[in-house]
Amino acid sequence: MRHSESVATLFISDLHLTAERPRTNEELFVFLEHDAVSADALYILGDLFEYWIGDDAAEALGHEAVLRALRRLTDRGTPVFFMHGNRDFLVDGEFSRRTGCRILTDPTVVELYGEPVLLTHGDRLCTEDHAHQEFRKLVGEPAWQHSFLAKSIAERTRLATGARQQSELNKSLMSMEIMDVNQDAVEVLMRDYGVGTLIHGHTHRPAVHHFSLDGTPVRRIVLGDWYEQGSVLWYSDRSVRLNPAGPTS
Ligand code: MN
Repeated sequence: MRHSESVATLFISDLHLTAERPRTNEELFVFLEHDAVSADALYILGDLFEYWIGDDAAEALGHEAVLRALRRLTDRGTPVFFMHGNRDFLVDGEFSRRTGCRILTDPTVVELYGEPVLLTHGDRLCTEDHAHQEFRKLVGEPAWQHSFLAKSIAERTRLATGARQQSELNKSLMSMEIMDVNQDAVEVLMRDYGVGTLIHGHTHRPAVHHFSLDGTPVRRIVLGDWYEQGSVLWYSDRSVRLNPAGPTS
C-alpha cells in the first residue's frame, strides 16, 4: 500500500557499482527495499555504475541483480528516474525497459512540491577540467558511441579497464582526481533555467551551498558518493536532509 500523503523525494548518485565492491550493492538493495519504497520518487543522478559499456553487457559485468532490484521497486509503484553520469553514459533503452526507470536528459528541470528544481550529474560544471570536457565531447558523439558499441563485450571491457590500454575511455575512467564545480558555470546554468535550487552529484563533496544569484537567495545541493557509506538526499517541501550530513554553508 502506498502512502497517500507526500513523504519525500530521494536522490542518490555516484554509487560506482561494480562486482568488485559487493558491499555497496548490498547497501543499495537494503535502501531500495526500505526507504525508497515509501518515497514519492527516486532520482539517480548518474554514476550508478563504475562503468557501463552497453546494455547488452549488464550480465557480463555482474549487474543483473541491480537491474532486478530496480525493477522490484518500480513494480511496487515508486517512480525511478535515471540520469547519465560520466561513467554510465551508455545506459540506454534496454536498461530502461528492464528496470522501469525513466531516463532523464542532463540537465533537466523537474517540479518538486511546487518549485522548479534543476538536476544535472555535475561533470558539465567542472569547466576547469579541460581533459574531461574534451572526453565529454568525444563520447557524446553518436559516431563514437556506435563504433564503441559495435565492438565485442570483451573488447569494450578491455578498452574501459585495460591497464595497458590507454584509450580515451580508460584514461577518463581511471582519472582519480575530480575537480570541483566552477561557480560561474553553476550561476550561468541556474540563470538559464531560472531555478532557485540545483541538485547534482559527481564531485563527491556532499553539501548544501547557499548563495545569492542576482540578488535572490538560491541553493546548490551536492550529493555524496557511496564509497564509505550510502549518501541519500531526502527532499521535501518542509526540509532538505543529506544523510549522512555534509557541511552546510
Ligand atoms: Mn561522475
